Amino acid sequence: MITIVQQAHRHPTNTAILSGGQTHTYAQLLAYSEQFGQQLLTGRTDLAEARVAFMVEPGFDYVMVQWGIWRSGGIAVPLCTTYPPASLQYVIDDTAAEIIVTSSRYASILQPIAETRTIRFIELGLSDDHSSSVLPDVDPARGAMILYTSGTTNLPKGVVSTHANLDAQMSTLIAAWEWQSTDHILCVLPLHHVHGIVNVICCALWAGACCEFLPEFSAGAVFAAFQRGAINLFMAVPTIYFKLIAHWESLPETEQQTLTDTMRTFRLMVSGSAALPVTVMEKWERVSGHTLLERYGMTEIGMAISNPYRGKRVPGHIGQPLPGVGVRLVDEQDEPVDEGQPGEIQVKAATVFREYWQRPQATQDAFTDDGWFRTGDVAVLDEGSYKILGRSSIDIIKSGGYKLSALEIEEVLRTHPAIGDCGVIGLADEEWGEIVGAVLVASETVDLAELNQWMRTQMAAYKVPRHYRIVTELPRNAMGKVTKNDLKKLF
Ligand code: ATP
Ligand code: MG
Repeated sequence: MITIVQQAHRHPTNTAILSGGQTHTYAQLLAYSEQFGQQLLTGRTDLAEARVAFMVEPGFDYVMVQWGIWRSGGIAVPLCTTYPPASLQYVIDDTAAEIIVTSSRYASILQPIAETRTIRFIELGLSDDHSSSVLPDVDPARGAMILYTSGTTNLPKGVVSTHANLDAQMSTLIAAWEWQSTDHILCVLPLHHVHGIVNVICCALWAGACCEFLPEFSAGAVFAAFQRGAINLFMAVPTIYFKLIAHWESLPETEQQTLTDTMRTFRLMVSGSAALPVTVMEKWERVSGHTLLERYGMTEIGMAISNPYRGKRVPGHIGQPLPGVGVRLVDEQDEPVDEGQPGEIQVKAATVFREYWQRPQATQDAFTDDGWFRTGDVAVLDEGSYKILGRSSIDIIKSGGYKLSALEIEEVLRTHPAIGDCGVIGLADEEWGEIVGAVLVASETVDLAELNQWMRTQMAAYKVPRHYRIVTELPRNAMGKVTKNDLKKLF
């Protein structure tokens, strides 16, 4: 039994999806995904965890394919639509995909890959063998999805989540953020990543709500969709809020005001996938009247820590563990740290993934002997709310016996009027181990000597960057996360 599919039977006439000017009800989603599941099954009774890679633009067809794969017993492998062919091949080969599904838009990219590997290829809308087989009974312990991590620190790893894992991820968020069947969310996130797939689409559909898609992200299109008046929920990554703020600021005052009035009526706006700069949070509050709810999660664990839906959301903090999610902070020996001390976040919950796809060693290394998942992120519990200090591998800079948080230094830099954005990293140094380097997106008039003087008035001298580089834009991956290994190459 697939819970999200079961849930859909409860509100067949509700609008499930709004995309490309068309609406589809839950009854239609059930009927079309059943048919597609049967098409996938042709000649078999159960896909039995066969990997089905698919690349379909955001909208009804995307969800129909995802549900069809699940209902025929397969593992859904959503491909990133902006990946170059080499990265697509990597995912298809790594998962040993047995079937590739695509819309006509991407057929010319994927068909050659399928042909050279003799993988069954299905282009939506073209007729294909069709069976009327009965869909198999799918156990919750079955693999449901392989998502690749964002590749922020290393080569992306395939994360296998079971139906039970996804059910736990959805039900936790639905309870915590009080999803209702009357909700209407706008989805602008890429659909090869947990944020867009689970937090936005799956939660909306589990709840019987409406999920609206934009064909492509643009700030203007987002605001135009908001203006139509039905949307009451929005979730995005910090870079998207950054772009929306810039667009809003460019509008005439009367338009700004109408937009702000519209957004004020929303129920909830969420940020995650990367640290939300306090400057962005504050500006968004002026733009939309909303204090963004920041939460923390990863591909491997879904969402784990969240600011409260009701209650105080603290800037620069990620809040408290979600219901049912065990969270602890530990030192390098996996021993819990004292209250107020920084430590690695470890998580134990039904939401946590089954394994890294065909990487048994990596899977084993990722867990403690007693089953806690090592996130590799360092945080501190500050007045009852967790605060992320960064990834231990790249954001925690070890300099002369101190451990510095790159994120904290970035927060301070961003409060300087000449600085738009920045990324802080550790640079290898013989004397200090590491020294602090900062890459800035700054106005042309910025005087680095003056900036450095100013930084010394803001923080202890050992935290002040020793080297600066100025760029027009920070390098980011498909999820809008700064790829810090690329920053290091600038020095
Ligand atoms: P890879 O594992 O391939 O290097 P990745 O870790 O960026 O990529 P994801 O699973 O997409 O892949 O991202 C999870 C990470 O994103 C977390 O481990 C954490 O570092 C970061 N993250 C998520 N939410 C937040 C947040 N609210 N604040 C700070 N960091 C966050
Ligand atoms: Mg990761």
